[in-house]
Amino acid sequence: MNFYSKQMSVLYVEDEKEAREAFEKTLKRYTQKQYIATDGNEGLELYKKHFPDIVITDIKMPNKNGIELAEEILEINPEQIIIFTTAHTESKYTLKALEMQVEAYLIKPINKNKFKIKLNHIAKNIVNNRENLKKQKIIQAMFDSKSNISVLTNFKDIEFASKSFLQLFNIKNIDEFFTKYKRFIDIFQDSKEDLYEETQNRCISAKNPESFVKEYRNSKDALVCLFENDKIYKIDMQKIDVDYEVLHAISFVDITTLHKERLAALHDAFHDKLTSAYNRSMFDKFLDKEYRRYLRYGRPLCLAIFDIDLFKNVNDSYGHLIGDEVLKILAGYFMEHIRETDIFARWGGEEFTLLMSETDIDKARIVCEKLREGIENLKVYSLPKFTVSAGLAQIDKEDTKEEFFKKADDALYRAKNSGRNKIAVYEKYKDRL
Ligand code: GH3
Ligand code: MG
Ligand code: MG
Repeated sequence: MNFYSKQMSVLYVEDEKEAREAFEKTLKRYTQKQYIATDGNEGLELYKKHFPDIVITDIKMPNKNGIELAEEILEINPEQIIIFTTAHTESKYTLKALEMQVEAYLIKPINKNKFKIKLNHIAKNIVNNRENLKKQKIIQAMFDSKSNISVLTNFKDIEFASKSFLQLFNIKNIDEFFTKYKRFIDIFQDSKEDLYEETQNRCISAKNPESFVKEYRNSKDALVCLFENDKIYKIDMQKIDVDYEVLHAISFVDITTLHKERLAALHDAFHDKLTSAYNRSMFDKFLDKEYRRYLRYGRPLCLAIFDIDLFKNVNDSYGHLIGDEVLKILAGYFMEHIRETDIFARWGGEEFTLLMSETDIDKARIVCEKLREGIENLKVYSLPKFTVSAGLAQIDKEDTKEEFFKKADDALYRAKNSGRNKIAVYEKYKDRL
């Protein structure tokens, strides 16, 4: 029964000798440590020295009265547990004491039994609070001991955050976090599509917890970007059910460098080194994808194969290095002047392919003519002008992928044979040449 109060230290302040000595005995029985003072001044000195768990003070006293003492103590520690003892005759103080909202008011002479129950109740709260604080400290220490940036949240509030999380946001505590953000979930930035397209990674973000969790589950390799910086994090999320509330333990691992390296490696794998255009194997992938889309939806699809005219002469006249530069510049011109949805690739040597989805043969011809004309008028250093020829074909129902490609190739052959610097359309559309 006295289990809790027996752990308490108490400061007792009472100027009346008799009352003090009687109550001191009671305190000795029920509490662990007692500091006894005969007035407010002495009480304050003892308080500052020992910081007892509970302060029990008479109100009416010489020098410093109980209310003044309580006010000064609360200034030192606003959480201090204080109990006033008061006699009926001291009613002019009682109102003031009530306004202070202290833990309890005991009417003198103090009823030992009632006091015992009240004291134990207060002590139990103190012990429980201490236990909670201890547990919180342990959890915090566990959070901080891992190098991961971790946070425990219901997506709105933050229950725990590791030091590294606070550092990430350049803040001292969780309260400061909420001066910057309304809810925890608001830190996530929308996907930067262009950055992740090739890696198939998705930067997830959502307006509410349910969709965030859903996005996370659906995304094989969920990444997040934070509003705070330009970095990319891989996240790991664990659901924790706490009675009536669902929390998530989320850890962030900074993978910005890794991700950049991965993108660079992918770029090398998909692009031609000299011109930076897509390479042949990437073109095959795009052709395959567009071909399957055509089979499914039947939307128009065109392919042009461009070949630089008499390019061998460039190498022969100016050397391979200049030849390389010219290839780079001409490919650059193509890439700058095609539409966003067109796929431009270096097929090999001085041949380039241009795949145009959602484009019929008439529109494709206009596109190719413009490119041909543009190259013809392009000034490359002080070299004589360059021209290109192209074979163009639109896919047909009966075409396989290979047949579709061959049609464009046949047309290119015709363009070369009919004088170069030309766009030849596959012979089925010969009349449109
Ligand atoms: P045509 O109009 O019939 O296409 O004539 P052409 O000279 O362009 O055709 P040909 O196929 O005879 O020669 C292609 C030349 O392109 C030969 C080759 O040296 C050059 N070439 C291919 N790839 C590169 C490259 O990466 N760098 C350089 N400098 N030259 C290249
Ligand atoms: Mg060639
Ligand atoms: Mg050529």
